Amino acid sequence: MSTPRVGVLALQGDTREHLAALREAGADATTVRRVTELEAVDALVIPGGESTTMSHLLREFELLEPLRARLAEGMPAYGSCAGMILLATEILDAGVEGRAAVPLNAIDMTVRRNAFGRQVDSFEGDFPFEGLDGHVHAVFIRAPWVERVGPDVQVLGQAGGHIVAVRQGRMLATAFHPEMTGDRRIHKLFVDML
Ligand code: GLN
Repeated sequence: MSTPRVGVLALQGDTREHLAALREAGADATTVRRVTELEAVDALVIPGGESTTMSHLLREFELLEPLRARLAEGMPAYGSCAGMILLATEILDAGVEGRAAVPLNAIDMTVRRNAFGRQVDSFEGDFPFEGLDGHVHAVFIRAPWVERVGPDVQVLGQAGGHIVAVRQGRMLATAFHPEMTGDRRIHKLFVDML
C-alpha cells in the first residue's frame, strides 16, 4: 500500500498525539468518530485514555459492532494502553457492571486493566522491544499488563516480568504510550505492517 489511510478512534483519549505520530511515520492519519469514517480507513489506532469510557462511547456512537466486524474481517489495528485493553479477547478487572470495558476480540489475549496502576500509578523505563534496535523508552500510566497470550500471539516486550507489547498478525498492542515520546519506531512498525 502506498500511503495507508489510518484512522485514530477519537471518542476519548490522546488522539492528537497518535495523529501526529502516525503522520511522522508516513501515514495519512484521520480521526474516526462515526461508522462512515470507520469504513473509509485501512487501519485503526485505538489511543490511550479510559477503556470503560471508550466502551460506553463506542455503544453511544453505534460503533461497537461495526468495529468488531471490521476487526474480525482483519482490519489492522494498534492499541496503546486503553487501546490494548479493548483489543483483547478477555479483560480482567474490567470495571463495574454496566460500565465495564468491553473486549473487541482482535488479539487472543487476557489483559488485566490497571494492573501496574495497583502498584504505582505511572512509571517510565527503557525496555528491549523485539525487532527494534536498542531500547524503547516506555511511559506507563495506570497501565494494563497481559496475563495470557494465545498460540498465534508474539510477545514483543516485557517490563518487570510482565508482557507489555504483543503482535498477532497485523494487530499490535502496547501497554505503554509511544505516542508520548518522540520515538516513532513503534508507529513506523505499525505503518510498515500495512
Ligand atoms: N487505566 C486505563 C483504562 O483502564 C488505561 C490508562 C491509559 O490508557 N493510560 O482504560
